[in-house]
Amino acid sequence: MTGPGRPQRLLAARQRLAPIAFDRAEGSWVHAPDGRRYLDASSGLVCVNIGHAHPAVVSALTRQAQVGSFASPGTFRADPQERLAAETARAAHRPDDAVVFTSTGTAGVEMAIALARLVHRARGDSGRHRVLTSSLGYHGNSALTLALSGHRRRRPHPDDAFGLAPAFDPPYPELHRRCRLAACDAGCADEVAEAIDAAGVEQVAAVLVEPVNGTTGGGFRPPPGYLARLERLCARRGVLVIHDEVLTGLGRTGLPLGAHHDAGSDADIVVLSKGLGAGYVPLSAVLLAPGHAEAIARGGLPLPLMGTMSATPLQAAVGSAVLGVLGGLGALDPDVPRGLDVEAAVRAATTGLAAVTDVRGCGYFFGIEVTDGTQSDLIAAARDNDLLLYPFNGFRDDGSGEGVIVAPPLTITPAETDFLAAALRTSLEKWS
Ligand code: PMP
Repeated sequence: MTGPGRPQRLLAARQRLAPIAFDRAEGSWVHAPDGRRYLDASSGLVCVNIGHAHPAVVSALTRQAQVGSFASPGTFRADPQERLAAETARAAHRPDDAVVFTSTGTAGVEMAIALARLVHRARGDSGRHRVLTSSLGYHGNSALTLALSGHRRRRPHPDDAFGLAPAFDPPYPELHRRCRLAACDAGCADEVAEAIDAAGVEQVAAVLVEPVNGTTGGGFRPPPGYLARLERLCARRGVLVIHDEVLTGLGRTGLPLGAHHDAGSDADIVVLSKGLGAGYVPLSAVLLAPGHAEAIARGGLPLPLMGTMSATPLQAAVGSAVLGVLGGLGALDPDVPRGLDVEAAVRAATTGLAAVTDVRGCGYFFGIEVTDGTQSDLIAAARDNDLLLYPFNGFRDDGSGEGVIVAPPLTITPAETDFLAAALRTSLEKWS
């Protein structure tokens, strides 16, 4: 029994609204035991990108489970892992990259950082250890990644960087306010150069950036040219660029080449996760540009430890099934922007409403910024209309800012998109 003063048996972060009882989920829908069903407009925590219980995933998972799920890559060479490495590199349009698998998005970001430091060491420069990130970023829930996450609301103790030097210097929200200026030339990228120089170039291993900001700012995008400019100024300083595409990768943003929407943008290291495991297994892939992989190999340095659950055959089977489904949808096609119908639905549902102060994002990922004090009521109203929305908070410099994320599965049907638009509009109208 829980109650005031009694600890919960199962400790879990609670939202202000009571949790919905879960019975089962299929496609775009989550079903409650009372027979009610909800359109999952946030794809779980933006990881069920091909819908719940996709048959391709279920059968790959079952097949692999029946023949064994674990084969340590240090001891065995297993086809599912080898296959997934090649498929992931191709899916990310970086076919010549080396791939390292690990478990969660957090572990993937930590792996990317370890690899960046290793690349410097392999080149004889062991002084570069610092990583700069943005003031709005979120990169995971470990001590290191929380220290690197500038978004204060995501930390259990707002000023606690766990004794690690906080390093969120380039100001992401500022950058986006400026990018709305008509004459924006992505000059704000130069603030990253200033941050690197202030930290001491010889100490900085990498800049870690979300090419499209995810759940903390709700879909902020850098101005065109920003990522390429960032990469040029980092390259001049010998600093690597890591793209955290844990959330945005593999078709979520509907952009050709994932979130690499900048012509000429080409990060040294890319981290993919969430959607790759389909909500069934923790799985992340860290992609390393070939020149860096060669430097590590030449240097003869041992790779960072990958951890126990790092693309076991079971995880790999799920990853391959996911990539197969995404490929079949055309979601990995670099020439065709996707999710335009979802964008049209979000725009139609939000236009002309006083409660909506901004709509941002692209593809299958949108942040709807709402007037302060509205968010919880909006999420409750959406539930009343059989729609699940995910909150985002605290994107302004003073810690305020409220919104909801719309990020349905990439498999959403036209009829479900219409349902989403209507339910969202009805819910928003209540507060406008
Ligand atoms: N980076 C980004 C951009 C994320 O959105 C998240 C998760 N929301 C993470 C890292 C951490 O991933 P995980 O929760 O799987 O550890």
